[in-house]
Amino acid sequence: MTSPVAVRNRPSSGGGKAKSLPGPAPRPRALDAALVIAGLGFGATIGVTLTAESWSQLHAPGGVAMFLGNLTGMAGTYLALVMVLLVSRIPHVERVLGQDGLLRWHRRLSPWPISLIVAHAVLLTYAYAEASKTGFMHQLGTFFSSYSGMSIAIIGFVVFLAVAVASIYSVRSRMRRERWWALHLGMYLAFALAFVHEVVLGPSFVGHPLTQAVWGAAWAATAGLVLVYRVGYPVVRSLRHDLHVDEVRPEADGVVSIILRGRNLERLPVSGGQFFEWRFLTRGLWWQAHPYSMSARPRPPFLRLTVKAVGDHSSALAELRPGTRVAIEGPYGAFTTHARKRNKVAFLAGGIGITAARSLLEDLPKSAEPVVVWRVSSPADAALEEEVRTLVTRLRGKLHILPGGRTEVPMRHAVRLVQDVRRRDVFVSGSEGFVAAALEELSRDGVPRDAIHHEVYAL
Ligand SMILES: Cc1cc2nc3c(=O)[nH]c(=O)nc-3n(C[C@H](O)[C@H](O)[C@H](O)COP(=O)(O)OP(=O)(O)OC[C@H]3O[C@@H](n4cnc5c(N)ncnc54)[C@H](O)[C@@H]3O)c2cc1C
Repeated sequence: MTSPVAVRNRPSSGGGKAKSLPGPAPRPRALDAALVIAGLGFGATIGVTLTAESWSQLHAPGGVAMFLGNLTGMAGTYLALVMVLLVSRIPHVERVLGQDGLLRWHRRLSPWPISLIVAHAVLLTYAYAEASKTGFMHQLGTFFSSYSGMSIAIIGFVVFLAVAVASIYSVRSRMRRERWWALHLGMYLAFALAFVHEVVLGPSFVGHPLTQAVWGAAWAATAGLVLVYRVGYPVVRSLRHDLHVDEVRPEADGVVSIILRGRNLERLPVSGGQFFEWRFLTRGLWWQAHPYSMSARPRPPFLRLTVKAVGDHSSALAELRPGTRVAIEGPYGAFTTHARKRNKVAFLAGGIGITAARSLLEDLPKSAEPVVVWRVSSPADAALEEEVRTLVTRLRGKLHILPGGRTEVPMRHAVRLVQDVRRRDVFVSGSEGFVAAALEELSRDGVPRDAIHHEVYAL
């Protein structure tokens, strides 16, 4: 049996055959298929909305606002469904885009459903007020008291608005991440509350049982996917592997490795460079899951992560007791050997960003000849240096450790150390600032976009 120390020291831990299953390769066609289905769904949604209105309804008082209100409502709700799908982490799509890619799409898309649904509420209230010749506020009151499904839809709308405001960057960045995340779950509630009024009052649904059934099935399937991939899979995987903390080992100032022992890890398909959301089931930590990359491929029965203390959670991990149970969600991430388009590889790692690079190095063939450029605050901060050096040497690569801050070691200097950078795939990992600076420098140097792969250690 491999001991925890062997994860770090045994030569085969460097580049030898790992005993765990390799992670499945991403299939970009799965993403293409998902995009086509999403596009067709959007077209069908707009189609049923357009055909639900007649010319005479358009010419009635408030008719145009009524039409636009229904159109914005249907389009906005459909896009909201796509947003939920984006965070359901369907493995086939996640493997292509990575979790940060999915979240980027989720964030980019979010202004659309929010503004469309707000427009829907305003336009329809105005349209009904025009038709019944009352005021806007009076009409709101009537909706609340006299329309079936409307009172709970209005409550849902208020929840929706509250979560939307909390998600604006300037508000979100002032909140603790866990609080924001708990509030964000309110979106699911808002969509559930709005559902009844859509099918009971929406002109596309009233008298159209087939459309009603398809819409209901689409939302039920979306809810099912969220439950399966965000709840079911993690629970089953955590029970199957039954992970416990085996050892907490100091690696450098403020950096510890946590070695976990589990069952059936040889059956856990995972690629070097991927990460899990880890939930340590102990007082004060059980209610929050944080992402940390594997800092080595699994060595059944062991799995390892290496963590730098930057805040409450990461600092508390140094105090974990052996035997603490651990639940996992994942593996996630497209920062893997599957992303490579070329033979040769370079890494730009900032500080603790080395963890993903360290485990990815294990999956590389010799022909990769990796050049690893690793910026650390001081030489003593280079946690896992010995392991990284062993792996790089075995792959006939080069390791450059650059101690110093941003101003002392400019990104230009770091990138210049990879002389043939344009002929390599470049993997960048580290803080948001480090990755942004590296991407800027690489694009200035003419490295093609599809040869750059990154993992940002912040969400
Ligand atoms: C894909 C990925 C892989 C990572 N791998 C590693 C790793 O191998 N080793 C390591 O030390 N760190 C890693 N991190 C960063 C690590 O998740 C955060 O440092 C940690 O969650 C901070 O939590 P905290 O409570 O200690 O600090 P906080 O005080 O909450 O925050 C400190 C900083 O971390 C960010 N942060 C806080 N919570 C989260 C969260 N749940 N998800 C993302 N960012 C958060 C905040 O935006 C802030 O910038 C990784 C992050 C990501 C997204």
